[in-house]
Amino acid sequence: MKISEIYRKKTPVLSFEIFPPKRDTTLTSIDATLDVLCSLHPDFISVTFGAGGSATNSLTVGLAKKIKKEYGIEPLVHLTCINYTKEEILAFADELAEAGIENVLALRGDRNPDIVPKEEFFYASDLVSFLKENRGELCVGGACYPEGHTEAESKVADLHNLKKKTEAGAEFLISQLFFDNEHFYSFREKMEIADIKPPVSAGIMPVINRAQIERMVSLCGASLPEKFRRILQKYEFEKDALFDAGMAYAVNQIVDLVAHDVDGVHVYTMNNPVVARRICDSIRNLI
Ligand code: FAD
Repeated sequence: MKISEIYRKKTPVLSFEIFPPKRDTTLTSIDATLDVLCSLHPDFISVTFGAGGSATNSLTVGLAKKIKKEYGIEPLVHLTCINYTKEEILAFADELAEAGIENVLALRGDRNPDIVPKEEFFYASDLVSFLKENRGELCVGGACYPEGHTEAESKVADLHNLKKKTEAGAEFLISQLFFDNEHFYSFREKMEIADIKPPVSAGIMPVINRAQIERMVSLCGASLPEKFRRILQKYEFEKDALFDAGMAYAVNQIVDLVAHDVDGVHVYTMNNPVVARRICDSIRNLI
């Protein structure tokens, strides 16, 4: 089913994000994770894709296919473009069609100083319009950034660029992670003012350790509110306590988002089934 259709039928939509295992071409090491994630009945599961040169990219389709065929859950395949040619993207789209996959998250991908971009696609919106022109049967979504993309000239410029992405054909959006819901609400308002209409799922990353969060935050530019910093400081060396506090924080964010009529919640699971189960148990009657 097309993900745009899922948003039309039901909100809030619940989705999980996973990444292909690095050194397992048979994809068996992820079975235990999938067993738990799929038993929680998310509306879709997205599978990440390397920005270029990654050996795991062929596994993205395999994993998405497995999610669809063996578990009956709708997969969303991430696809990055700056390090690929149009021909490579078309070949990949054909692989998706053969696997019966209908949904793609069109992304630019982060620049990698060790890879020279192919210069056939410059922005995610180029990929969105290319897919819409050449593989119009695909349902295409895009990423968005409540606190602004790290490379954007300004938040206003970033919003104009997001509008270009939706005008190119992005039918739904998934947000970068954030730890302060006010950023998301203010972003939603700005989207409305800019007449950007597609549904947007809020990206939530449950914290399991301090190093993980500091790495993510330095990469994606999300800010850390004071009450969140306090939790990290207080429980830095108490693994189990930090886990409990991190889950409670994520659940609180989700409860508040649902109360604010969010279109969807996208949980960055980090392939951790314990995290997904804990979150789902706490919001079972909300989503
Ligand atoms: P774009 O939408 O192209 O934006 C990138 C920058 O260019 C922004 O600053 C924007 O304002 C600017 N821009 C856009 N259009 C124009 C224009 N026409 N003119 C001038 N400036 C413009 N990365 C991966 O490698 N693999 C993944 O699987 C992956 N999954 C992700 C999932 C989500 C939900 C999110 C939020 C991010 C994901 N990323 C992934 C990271 C993403 O690739 C990076 O954040 C990347 O830096 C930007 O990608 P984008 O698609 O948002 O780019």
